[in-house]
Amino acid sequence: MTGKIETVGIVGAGQMGGGIAYVSALAGYNVLIYDISPERIEKGIATINGNLARHVASGKLDDQARKDAMARISSAPAMADLASADLVIEAATEDETIKRKIYAQLCPLLNPEAVLATNTSSISITRLAAQTDRPERFIGIHFMNPVPVMKLVELVRGIATEDKTFEAAKEFVRNLDKTVTVSEDFPAFIVNRILLPMINEAIYTLYEGVGTVEAIDTAMKLGANHPMGPLQLADFIGLDTCLSIMQVLHDGLSDSKYRPCPLLVKYVEAGWLGRKTGRGFYDYRGEHPVPTR
Ligand code: NAD
Repeated sequence: MTGKIETVGIVGAGQMGGGIAYVSALAGYNVLIYDISPERIEKGIATINGNLARHVASGKLDDQARKDAMARISSAPAMADLASADLVIEAATEDETIKRKIYAQLCPLLNPEAVLATNTSSISITRLAAQTDRPERFIGIHFMNPVPVMKLVELVRGIATEDKTFEAAKEFVRNLDKTVTVSEDFPAFIVNRILLPMINEAIYTLYEGVGTVEAIDTAMKLGANHPMGPLQLADFIGLDTCLSIMQVLHDGLSDSKYRPCPLLVKYVEAGWLGRKTGRGFYDYRGEHPVPTR
Protein backbone atom coordinates (compact mmCIF):
# COMPACT_ATOMS: atom_id res chain seq x y z
CA MET A 1 0.00 0.00 0.00
CA THR A 2 1.56 3.24 -1.08
CA GLY A 3 -1.26 5.79 -1.00
CA LYS A 4 -3.46 6.91 1.83
CA ILE A 5 -6.84 5.25 2.21
CA GLU A 6 -9.55 7.72 1.22
CA THR A 7 -12.13 5.60 -0.55
CA VAL A 8 -13.39 2.30 0.86
CA GLY A 9 -15.25 -0.13 -1.39
CA ILE A 10 -17.56 -2.66 0.23
CA VAL A 11 -18.75 -5.87 -1.39
CA GLY A 12 -21.97 -7.10 0.23
CA ALA A 13 -24.58 -4.69 1.57
CA GLY A 14 -25.90 -7.05 4.26
CA GLN A 15 -25.73 -6.52 8.00
CA MET A 16 -21.92 -6.44 8.16
CA GLY A 17 -21.28 -4.54 4.92
CA GLY A 18 -23.85 -1.96 6.01
CA GLY A 19 -22.24 -1.64 9.44
CA ILE A 20 -18.75 -1.24 7.96
CA ALA A 21 -20.10 1.44 5.60
CA TYR A 22 -21.74 3.19 8.57
CA VAL A 23 -18.57 3.46 10.66
CA SER A 24 -16.31 4.23 7.67
CA ALA A 25 -18.50 7.09 6.43
CA LEU A 26 -18.80 8.53 9.95
CA ALA A 27 -15.00 8.46 10.23
CA GLY A 28 -14.71 10.54 7.03
CA TYR A 29 -13.99 7.89 4.38
CA ASN A 30 -15.79 7.91 1.04
CA VAL A 31 -17.70 4.64 0.75
CA LEU A 32 -18.80 2.73 -2.34
CA ILE A 33 -21.22 -0.17 -1.81
CA TYR A 34 -21.67 -3.07 -4.20
CA ASP A 35 -24.00 -6.08 -3.97
CA ILE A 36 -25.50 -8.57 -6.43
CA SER A 37 -28.44 -6.33 -7.30
CA PRO A 38 -29.26 -2.61 -7.20
CA GLU A 39 -32.23 -3.47 -4.94
CA ARG A 40 -29.94 -5.03 -2.33
CA ILE A 41 -27.65 -1.99 -2.44
CA GLU A 42 -30.60 0.36 -2.03
CA LYS A 43 -31.97 -1.70 0.83
CA GLY A 44 -28.52 -1.73 2.48
CA ILE A 45 -28.14 2.05 2.16
CA ALA A 46 -31.68 2.61 3.50
CA THR A 47 -30.82 0.44 6.53
CA ILE A 48 -27.65 2.48 7.16
CA ASN A 49 -29.69 5.70 7.01
CA GLY A 50 -32.28 4.19 9.36
CA ASN A 51 -29.58 3.16 11.85
CA LEU A 52 -27.92 6.59 11.70
CA ALA A 53 -31.33 8.25 12.24
CA ARG A 54 -31.98 5.98 15.22
CA HIS A 55 -28.67 7.03 16.74
CA VAL A 56 -29.56 10.71 16.14
CA ALA A 57 -32.93 10.15 17.85
CA SER A 58 -31.23 8.56 20.87
CA GLY A 59 -28.77 11.47 21.12
CA LYS A 60 -25.63 9.45 20.22
CA LEU A 61 -25.11 11.44 17.03
CA ASP A 62 -26.06 14.87 15.71
CA ASP A 63 -28.08 15.21 12.54
CA GLN A 64 -25.32 17.00 10.65
CA ALA A 65 -23.01 14.02 11.22
CA ARG A 66 -25.73 11.72 9.82
CA LYS A 67 -26.14 13.94 6.74
CA ASP A 68 -22.36 14.17 6.20
CA ALA A 69 -21.98 10.40 6.54
CA MET A 70 -24.83 9.70 4.11
CA ALA A 71 -23.30 12.15 1.60
CA ARG A 72 -20.09 10.09 1.66
CA ILE A 73 -21.88 6.82 0.81
CA SER A 74 -22.50 5.97 -2.85
CA SER A 75 -23.99 2.99 -4.55
CA ALA A 76 -21.71 0.98 -6.87
CA PRO A 77 -24.20 -0.82 -9.13
CA ALA A 78 -21.42 -2.50 -11.14
CA MET A 79 -18.33 -4.10 -9.65
CA ALA A 80 -16.23 -1.85 -11.93
CA ASP A 81 -17.54 1.10 -9.91
CA LEU A 82 -15.21 -0.04 -7.10
CA ALA A 83 -12.15 0.70 -9.27
CA SER A 84 -11.33 3.95 -7.46
CA ALA A 85 -11.23 2.33 -4.00
CA ASP A 86 -7.95 2.31 -2.05
CA LEU A 87 -9.28 -0.44 0.21
CA VAL A 88 -12.00 -2.95 -0.65
CA ILE A 89 -13.61 -4.90 2.16
CA GLU A 90 -15.44 -8.02 1.06
CA ALA A 91 -18.38 -8.70 3.39
CA ALA A 92 -20.38 -11.11 1.22
CA THR A 93 -22.03 -14.33 2.36
CA GLU A 94 -19.79 -16.71 4.36
CA ASP A 95 -19.24 -19.15 1.50
CA GLU A 96 -15.79 -19.78 0.09
CA THR A 97 -17.05 -20.40 -3.46
CA ILE A 98 -18.90 -17.07 -3.49
CA LYS A 99 -15.87 -15.22 -2.13
CA ARG A 100 -13.53 -16.83 -4.69
CA LYS A 101 -15.81 -15.82 -7.56
CA ILE A 102 -15.94 -12.26 -6.25
CA TYR A 103 -12.13 -12.00 -6.09
CA ALA A 104 -11.73 -13.42 -9.61
CA GLN A 105 -14.07 -10.78 -10.98
CA LEU A 106 -12.90 -7.94 -8.74
CA CYS A 107 -9.09 -8.11 -8.81
CA PRO A 108 -8.59 -7.16 -12.49
CA LEU A 109 -10.77 -4.07 -11.91
CA LEU A 110 -8.84 -2.73 -8.92
CA ASN A 111 -5.88 -0.42 -8.74
CA PRO A 112 -2.83 -2.74 -8.40
CA GLU A 113 -1.89 -0.92 -5.18
CA ALA A 114 -5.32 -1.26 -3.58
CA VAL A 115 -5.64 -3.40 -0.45
CA LEU A 116 -8.22 -6.19 -0.54
CA ALA A 117 -9.62 -7.24 2.83
CA THR A 118 -12.16 -9.84 3.84
CA ASN A 119 -14.53 -9.69 6.78
CA THR A 120 -14.78 -13.50 6.86
CA SER A 121 -15.61 -14.91 10.28
CA SER A 122 -13.69 -18.10 9.83
CA ILE A 123 -12.20 -18.93 6.43
CA SER A 124 -8.41 -19.13 6.01
CA ILE A 125 -6.98 -15.76 4.97
CA THR A 126 -3.98 -17.48 3.39
CA ARG A 127 -6.24 -19.68 1.23
CA LEU A 128 -8.47 -16.77 0.20
CA ALA A 129 -5.40 -14.61 -0.53
CA ALA A 130 -4.04 -17.30 -2.83
CA GLN A 131 -7.13 -16.86 -5.02
CA THR A 132 -6.23 -13.22 -5.68
CA ASP A 133 -3.57 -11.41 -7.69
CA ARG A 134 -2.35 -9.67 -4.51
CA PRO A 135 -1.67 -12.01 -1.54
CA GLU A 136 0.78 -9.37 -0.19
CA ARG A 137 -2.00 -6.78 -0.10
CA PHE A 138 -4.70 -9.12 1.23
CA ILE A 139 -5.74 -9.21 4.90
CA GLY A 140 -8.55 -10.24 7.24
CA ILE A 141 -10.30 -7.26 8.86
CA HIS A 142 -12.86 -9.00 11.03
CA PHE A 143 -15.50 -6.66 12.44
CA MET A 144 -17.96 -7.73 15.12
CA ASN A 145 -21.74 -7.41 14.87
CA PRO A 146 -23.28 -4.82 15.25
CA VAL A 147 -20.35 -2.92 13.81
CA PRO A 148 -21.28 0.56 15.12
CA VAL A 149 -21.50 -0.77 18.69
CA MET A 150 -18.76 -3.36 19.01
CA LYS A 151 -15.31 -2.00 19.84
CA LEU A 152 -13.19 -4.91 18.62
CA VAL A 153 -11.73 -5.69 15.21
CA GLU A 154 -9.54 -8.76 14.68
CA LEU A 155 -6.74 -8.34 12.17
CA VAL A 156 -5.57 -11.54 10.55
CA ARG A 157 -2.54 -11.75 8.31
CA GLY A 158 -2.20 -14.42 5.67
CA ILE A 159 1.19 -16.03 5.20
CA ALA A 160 2.06 -13.49 2.45
CA THR A 161 0.52 -10.33 3.93
CA GLU A 162 3.10 -7.53 3.86
CA ASP A 163 3.83 -5.29 6.84
CA LYS A 164 2.68 -2.26 4.84
CA THR A 165 -0.73 -3.87 4.35
CA PHE A 166 -0.99 -4.76 8.03
CA GLU A 167 -0.02 -1.21 9.08
CA ALA A 168 -2.52 0.34 6.63
CA ALA A 169 -5.29 -1.90 7.97
CA LYS A 170 -4.33 -1.09 11.55
CA GLU A 171 -4.43 2.65 10.88
CA PHE A 172 -7.80 2.33 9.14
CA VAL A 173 -9.29 0.43 12.10
CA ARG A 174 -7.87 2.93 14.61
CA ASN A 175 -9.42 5.78 12.62
CA LEU A 176 -12.77 4.05 13.13
CA ASP A 177 -12.11 4.29 16.87
CA LYS A 178 -11.99 0.52 17.29
CA THR A 179 -9.52 -1.64 19.19
CA VAL A 180 -7.37 -4.08 17.23
CA THR A 181 -6.49 -7.59 18.33
CA VAL A 182 -4.24 -9.70 16.19
CA SER A 183 -5.07 -13.31 15.51
CA GLU A 184 -3.03 -15.93 13.73
CA ASP A 185 -4.64 -17.38 10.63
CA PHE A 186 -6.29 -20.52 12.05
CA PRO A 187 -9.95 -21.52 11.62
CA ALA A 188 -12.40 -18.95 13.05
CA PHE A 189 -9.56 -16.86 14.56
CA ILE A 190 -9.95 -15.96 18.27
CA VAL A 191 -13.46 -14.67 19.00
CA ASN A 192 -15.38 -17.23 16.95
CA ARG A 193 -13.08 -20.12 17.88
CA ILE A 194 -14.32 -19.61 21.43
CA LEU A 195 -17.82 -18.21 20.86
CA LEU A 196 -19.23 -20.55 18.21
CA PRO A 197 -18.57 -23.85 20.01
CA MET A 198 -20.43 -22.29 22.97
CA ILE A 199 -23.39 -21.40 20.73
CA ASN A 200 -23.27 -24.85 19.08
CA GLU A 201 -23.29 -26.45 22.54
CA ALA A 202 -26.33 -24.35 23.48
CA ILE A 203 -28.08 -25.74 20.37
CA TYR A 204 -27.12 -29.30 21.43
CA THR A 205 -28.54 -28.52 24.86
CA LEU A 206 -31.83 -27.63 23.16
CA TYR A 207 -31.61 -30.61 20.75
CA GLU A 208 -31.12 -33.07 23.61
CA GLY A 209 -34.01 -31.56 25.57
CA VAL A 210 -31.91 -30.38 28.49
CA GLY A 211 -33.70 -27.04 28.38
CA THR A 212 -36.12 -24.95 26.35
CA VAL A 213 -35.02 -21.97 24.26
CA GLU A 214 -36.05 -19.64 27.06
CA ALA A 215 -34.44 -21.75 29.80
CA ILE A 216 -31.11 -21.90 27.95
CA ASP A 217 -31.01 -18.17 27.20
CA THR A 218 -32.11 -17.19 30.71
CA ALA A 219 -29.56 -19.58 32.22
CA MET A 220 -26.67 -18.00 30.33
CA LYS A 221 -27.85 -14.41 30.79
CA LEU A 222 -28.39 -14.65 34.53
CA GLY A 223 -26.07 -17.54 35.33
CA ALA A 224 -23.04 -16.48 33.31
CA ASN A 225 -23.79 -12.76 33.04
CA HIS A 226 -23.91 -12.80 29.25
CA PRO A 227 -25.74 -9.76 27.82
CA MET A 228 -27.61 -12.02 25.37
CA GLY A 229 -28.53 -15.69 25.56
CA PRO A 230 -26.60 -17.96 23.14
CA LEU A 231 -29.69 -18.80 21.03
CA GLN A 232 -30.67 -15.15 20.84
CA LEU A 233 -27.08 -14.41 19.81
CA ALA A 234 -27.14 -17.18 17.17
CA ASP A 235 -30.27 -15.61 15.64
CA PHE A 236 -28.55 -12.25 15.70
CA ILE A 237 -25.40 -13.54 13.96
CA GLY A 238 -27.45 -15.51 11.39
CA LEU A 239 -27.81 -19.28 11.60
CA ASP A 240 -26.29 -19.79 8.13
CA THR A 241 -23.19 -17.89 9.28
CA CYS A 242 -23.08 -19.93 12.54
CA LEU A 243 -23.27 -23.19 10.57
CA SER A 244 -20.57 -22.09 8.12
CA ILE A 245 -18.23 -21.21 10.98
CA MET A 246 -18.81 -24.60 12.69
CA GLN A 247 -18.14 -26.35 9.36
CA VAL A 248 -14.90 -24.41 8.93
CA LEU A 249 -13.83 -25.38 12.48
CA HIS A 250 -14.83 -29.01 11.92
CA ASP A 251 -13.09 -29.31 8.54
CA GLY A 252 -10.10 -27.16 9.44
CA LEU A 253 -9.25 -28.74 12.79
CA SER A 254 -10.56 -32.26 12.09
CA ASP A 255 -11.85 -32.63 15.61
CA SER A 256 -15.31 -34.10 16.26
CA LYS A 257 -15.84 -31.67 19.13
CA TYR A 258 -16.68 -29.08 16.47
CA ARG A 259 -19.42 -31.10 14.73
CA PRO A 260 -22.35 -28.81 13.92
CA CYS A 261 -25.52 -29.69 15.80
CA PRO A 262 -28.09 -31.38 13.48
CA LEU A 263 -30.73 -28.98 14.81
CA LEU A 264 -28.69 -26.03 13.55
CA VAL A 265 -28.48 -27.73 10.13
CA LYS A 266 -32.26 -28.23 10.16
CA TYR A 267 -32.99 -24.56 10.87
CA VAL A 268 -30.67 -23.49 8.06
CA GLU A 269 -32.26 -25.99 5.66
CA ALA A 270 -35.67 -24.53 6.55
CA GLY A 271 -34.40 -21.04 5.69
CA TRP A 272 -35.01 -20.00 9.31
CA LEU A 273 -31.79 -18.03 9.54
CA GLY A 274 -32.60 -15.85 12.55
CA ARG A 275 -33.45 -12.17 12.71
CA LYS A 276 -32.57 -11.41 9.12
CA THR A 277 -35.27 -13.78 7.79
CA GLY A 278 -37.80 -13.15 10.60
CA ARG A 279 -37.46 -16.60 12.18
CA GLY A 280 -34.79 -18.69 13.86
CA PHE A 281 -34.77 -19.97 17.44
CA TYR A 282 -37.24 -17.12 17.94
CA ASP A 283 -40.03 -15.87 15.68
CA TYR A 284 -39.56 -12.11 15.16
CA ARG A 285 -42.62 -11.49 13.03
CA GLY A 286 -44.87 -10.36 15.88
CA GLU A 287 -44.43 -7.58 18.38
CA HIS A 288 -42.16 -9.63 20.67
CA PRO A 289 -39.83 -12.53 19.82
CA VAL A 290 -41.48 -15.90 20.56
CA PRO A 291 -39.42 -19.15 20.88
CA THR A 292 -39.95 -21.49 17.93
CA ARG A 293 -39.62 -24.64 20.07
P1 NAD B 1 -25.67 -11.08 5.18
O1 NAD B 1 -26.39 -12.29 4.72
O2 NAD B 1 -26.40 -10.07 6.02
O3 NAD B 1 -25.09 -10.26 3.92
C1 NAD B 1 -24.37 -10.86 2.89
C2 NAD B 1 -24.52 -9.99 1.66
O4 NAD B 1 -23.63 -10.50 0.64
C3 NAD B 1 -25.95 -10.02 1.07
O5 NAD B 1 -26.43 -8.70 0.91
C4 NAD B 1 -25.74 -10.72 -0.28
O6 NAD B 1 -26.61 -10.26 -1.30
C5 NAD B 1 -24.29 -10.35 -0.59
N1 NAD B 1 -23.70 -11.20 -1.60
C6 NAD B 1 -23.81 -12.54 -1.78
N2 NAD B 1 -23.14 -12.91 -2.87
C7 NAD B 1 -22.59 -11.80 -3.39
C8 NAD B 1 -21.80 -11.54 -4.55
N3 NAD B 1 -21.44 -12.51 -5.37
N4 NAD B 1 -21.42 -10.27 -4.79
C9 NAD B 1 -21.77 -9.27 -3.94
N5 NAD B 1 -22.53 -9.44 -2.84
C10 NAD B 1 -22.93 -10.70 -2.58
O7 NAD B 1 -24.35 -11.59 5.92
P2 NAD B 1 -23.45 -10.83 7.00
O8 NAD B 1 -23.88 -11.24 8.35
O9 NAD B 1 -23.38 -9.38 6.64
O10 NAD B 1 -22.03 -11.54 6.75
C11 NAD B 1 -21.15 -11.10 5.73
C12 NAD B 1 -19.74 -11.54 6.05
O11 NAD B 1 -19.35 -10.99 7.32
C13 NAD B 1 -19.53 -13.06 6.17
O12 NAD B 1 -18.27 -13.39 5.67
C14 NAD B 1 -19.63 -13.28 7.66
O13 NAD B 1 -18.95 -14.44 8.08
C15 NAD B 1 -18.94 -12.05 8.18
N6 NAD B 1 -19.27 -11.69 9.56
C16 NAD B 1 -20.54 -11.84 10.04
C17 NAD B 1 -20.83 -11.51 11.37
C18 NAD B 1 -22.22 -11.66 11.91
O14 NAD B 1 -22.38 -11.60 13.13
N7 NAD B 1 -23.23 -11.84 11.09
C19 NAD B 1 -19.82 -11.00 12.19
C20 NAD B 1 -18.54 -10.82 11.66
C21 NAD B 1 -18.27 -11.18 10.35
